[in-house]
Formats: sequence, structure tokens, C-alpha cells
Amino acid sequence: MAVRSHSTRVQSFSLSGYHGKPTRGTVTIREFNREQRMRRALEGLGKWWGVALLSVFIPVAHFVLVPSFLLYGMWQLCQRLGTAELATDAHGACPDCGTEQTFELAPRWRAPQPVTCKQCHRGLRLTVPS
Ligand SMILES: [Zn+2]
Repeated sequence: MAVRSHSTRVQSFSLSGYHGKPTRGTVTIREFNREQRMRRALEGLGKWWGVALLSVFIPVAHFVLVPSFLLYGMWQLCQRLGTAELATDAHGACPDCGTEQTFELAPRWRAPQPVTCKQCHRGLRLTVPS
């Protein structure tokens, strides 16, 4: 059975702020098939359950840490199982202050979504032109 490496596509978007003309940017979107989602989900679960296991050795704090990490692991599992498209490397210029930057996006790709300029800290809106 051939295992295909993850597929990516580059999506262009437009960013609008309070004033100024909307600017253009691009984002790389990784698509996961069912098998890749399952693998990523199990990796996430394994990582956090590993942390939970290590927390057992921290006195007193382990009463809080161990169940928290176990729950967080489960949460990660659910999140990753549901993530078919992951957005990375969102590049663009802020329409308000003009600073070129990489934007922090929600891990699960969706558009429109709100983003924040790192320079002027204004809320911007990322949309995909149809
Ligand atoms: Zn800005």
C-alpha cells in the first residue's frame, strides 16, 4: 500500500482592517486524509499522556497535573481527528500599518477568520475571495 506524503496547497486570501485597502496574502494548507488524521491524533494523545506519566513523579502537583494532561490528551485526540485541513505559514501585509508578517491562525483552517496584526495589534479579517 503506497503511503502518499501529505498534500499541501497554497491559498490566497485578502485581509481587511478598519481603513486602508484590503491587502493580499497567502497561506499554506495541509490536507490530511483519514489515515493521516488518525496518526496525528494518536501522536498528540501519546505525547500528552507521556507528559501525564512524567507528572506522576511531581509531589502534590500530580493530583492536578496528571488528570489535566490526561484530559488534554483526549481533547487533542478529538481536535486532531476533526482537523482535515491545517493552515500554516500565513503571510501577508497588514492593511492598516503595512507590516509584512506571518499571522497566527486557528489550527483548523476556516475562512473568514479573525487575525491580529503583530505590529499594531489591530483585529483584521481574513477572507478568501470567491
Ligand atoms: Zn498592523
